[in-house]
Amino acid sequence: MTLIPLPAFTDNYIWMLHDGRNAVVVDPGDAGPVMQALTDSGLTLQSILVTHHHPDHVGGVDALRAATGARVLGPARERIPEPFEKLADGDVVHVLGHPFTVMDVPGHTAGHIAYFSPAFDASPILFCGDTLFSAGCGRLFEGTPAQMLRSLDRLASLPGATRVCCTHEYTLSNLRFACAVEPANKDLLEYVGHCQALRAQQQPTLPARLALERLINPFLRTREASIVAVARARDPAAMTDEQVFAVIRQWKNDFK
Ligand SMILES: [Zn+2]
Ligand SMILES: [Zn+2]
Repeated sequence: MTLIPLPAFTDNYIWMLHDGRNAVVVDPGDAGPVMQALTDSGLTLQSILVTHHHPDHVGGVDALRAATGARVLGPARERIPEPFEKLADGDVVHVLGHPFTVMDVPGHTAGHIAYFSPAFDASPILFCGDTLFSAGCGRLFEGTPAQMLRSLDRLASLPGATRVCCTHEYTLSNLRFACAVEPANKDLLEYVGHCQALRAQQQPTLPARLALERLINPFLRTREASIVAVARARDPAAMTDEQVFAVIRQWKNDFK
């Protein structure tokens, strides 16, 4: 099985899985790169998985469905180009013969879902859309900090070996912020050098490994004493986990 991030727009990846004959794509905001990859490798598109309704994730769905007849699956609680199979938390869908479990992860959007497979080609894999990024998380367009924190807690509890397939190459800018939050985090500083080297060669920094994200991603670490302390220095009223998370998320929104 081959896993490829197809670059789209300025910083999106459309994840493609294929077995040499059949393919599935996740969040095709643009049909162009997908059609090109299908043609180049002689693949048949079987399924399109959608995580949420934003145009950079669904813009290519209609064209791909029309060109290939692929089935479209997406979150039941969001407006996705119809017709599509409506998925909710706990549903299991089969992709190229592998089971993926659907997880509700509201926060970035109200009905955002993620797809997790525990043993895809021996190691677990997660398609998390715009919920979890390497060293960051999605903006809260439709959800509350409490919802996003709960969604990230669920994702963080998946196996450490999980390959985290995020939809945007935001890693370096996220890392600049992460270093402002945790300037003494050695794992973080090491990861910065690793990612800078990849980007210098135009290589993706993704998929990320969940075990490493737990060590370097400030949004998975908001209960760490040092992060609680910097959050309270910015807002002494931040007492609960949700309030600390909200302070860190707002700091990222304002970070230049
Ligand atoms: Zn989005
Ligand atoms: Zn996006």
